[in-house]
Amino acid sequence: MRAVDIIIKKRDRGELSQEEINFFVQGFTQGEISDYQVSAWAMAVLLNGMSDRETTDLTMAMVHSGEMLDLSGVVPIAVDKHSTGGVGDKTTLVVEPVVASCGLAVGKMSGRGLGFSGGTLDKMESIPGFRTNLTREEFLAQLKSLGLVLTGQTSDLAPADGKLYALRDVTGTVQSIPLIASSVMSKKIAAGAQAIVLDVKVGLGAFMQTLSEARHLARLMVAIGSLSGRQVVALLSDMNQPLGNAIGNALEVTEAVNTLHGKGPDDFTEHCLTVASQMLVLGKKAEGIESARLMAESALASGQAWQAFRDLVIAQGGDVNYVDHLELLPTAPLIETAAAPLAGHICAINAREIGETAVELGAGRARKTDLIDHAVGIVVHRKVGDFVPAGEALFTIYANRQDRLESAKTRILAAYQWSDVACPPLPLFYDVIK
Ligand code: URA
Repeated sequence: MRAVDIIIKKRDRGELSQEEINFFVQGFTQGEISDYQVSAWAMAVLLNGMSDRETTDLTMAMVHSGEMLDLSGVVPIAVDKHSTGGVGDKTTLVVEPVVASCGLAVGKMSGRGLGFSGGTLDKMESIPGFRTNLTREEFLAQLKSLGLVLTGQTSDLAPADGKLYALRDVTGTVQSIPLIASSVMSKKIAAGAQAIVLDVKVGLGAFMQTLSEARHLARLMVAIGSLSGRQVVALLSDMNQPLGNAIGNALEVTEAVNTLHGKGPDDFTEHCLTVASQMLVLGKKAEGIESARLMAESALASGQAWQAFRDLVIAQGGDVNYVDHLELLPTAPLIETAAAPLAGHICAINAREIGETAVELGAGRARKTDLIDHAVGIVVHRKVGDFVPAGEALFTIYANRQDRLESAKTRILAAYQWSDVACPPLPLFYDVIK
């Protein structure tokens, strides 16, 4: 078998056999197939798609590219969550401590920013010292002792996904149902949690732009999870406008900590409570959504969830002063607030534009090896459905260069759509797929 023949077959819309998929995945995991061939193949998959059977085979090949964790001997049940990626999506930072503080173990391996969407690891690395590269032994030990872990994929878990993910980020090959489904599910299956809540984002600032694509992705991931004996629920959530107000790594940590103190934006807090409730039900901590919701609310209100977040930061080597005193987190040298250019109702804030602008400011990567600037980003002060008087603060830009600040300002102003008549707020969720 030759890699080039597999690329050509997919280019010509052929259906790859399980052997071909295994050969290709093994080849690139072992470094025998080069990055440029993997990139060409990923583009062929993006353009021509894969059958559900190919996607399942791809997922399992990626799972078997490394080790699989068995958490059953460590905690009675572990839950995990995963978002398909969005703008301002710092849900994990709040939801995991909420759920863990309710007594349900959460072992999560997160990713970095991908294209215009941010990544949990990049956000957590705004906290000096916070380690996102725990070994498998450290992961297991912390899951047992603290019931809460938030780290990167260890190099022995689904290493094929780690390699492919980094290449897809910089080759325009993120937005593909088979590649997203196999990426998410290979990590989740390899990481060993028995119950998984998937947050499938849909809209302008998501990889899935339509509800029907998002439903397809959600159903496929739920089916792949069940085939591997996992309990999976997928939520379809809105990503037409940024989630919460902050976009950018340290800014999002600040918003997450404020939310843990009960002072977060309403949409983001509600989003977190909904995801946490689903996790609590799936992990059998609560009998139904209503009791799960009460549990999650009380974890936030009592400060238990905040305490769990602090413990997590300390356990993973982060300097807890930075989350106790948020003003210590990296701050950008240039900060400017833009005012509403007119009085009106906000009808849309194009999340994709906001996400791409944040990447341009330096919050994300254009190349695999790029360093990011944790301090830069955007805070939007008003959301879709709000009426804003002319001259009122609309958004604030945090930049490290004047030219970037100016260009971000123009781009973000153009991302808003205004109306003379009231516009309804956007829904937070569209559906739950079990
Ligand atoms: N999240 C992932 O883990 N992988 C993707 O491909 C997209 C979002």
